Amino acid sequence: MSDLRDLYQEVILDHNRSPRNFGRLEDADLHADGHNPLCGDKLSITLKLAGDRVADLRFEGSGCAISKASASLMTEGVKGRTLDELRGLFDRFHRLVTDQGAAADEAELGKLAVFAGVRDYPARVKCAILAWHTLRAAVDDRHEVVSTE
Ligand code: ZN
Repeated sequence: MSDLRDLYQEVILDHNRSPRNFGRLEDADLHADGHNPLCGDKLSITLKLAGDRVADLRFEGSGCAISKASASLMTEGVKGRTLDELRGLFDRFHRLVTDQGAAADEAELGKLAVFAGVRDYPARVKCAILAWHTLRAAVDDRHEVVSTE
């Protein structure tokens, strides 16, 4: 188990160091901003649709390693997915980081399962989930700033 934890740590550090899909899409169809006041994490998501699929998305902002790595891994995980699949992933991810009994979801989540460890750190759950709440707001076309509080 500690090897797995080390691997998880490594993936998070890597995505924090070199975040994927970082930036802003100028011709985005949807966008949203999110804020986690508890930690000071802030991010913006821009997204382009092709039909009901996520054709492309970017995130930008500043925050702790967990919030940035989570946003980076999320963008990789949802690109090319339908909006329905994306809502399903949101629910699974939410269970993964909040519910001890969610081990069954880890296989479905692939790399996103690296955040299973934040369950043990309630303050970090908000860092990990911020990108997802912000993405949900974007696809639901809500424009108020999302807050984890
Ligand atoms: Zn944070």
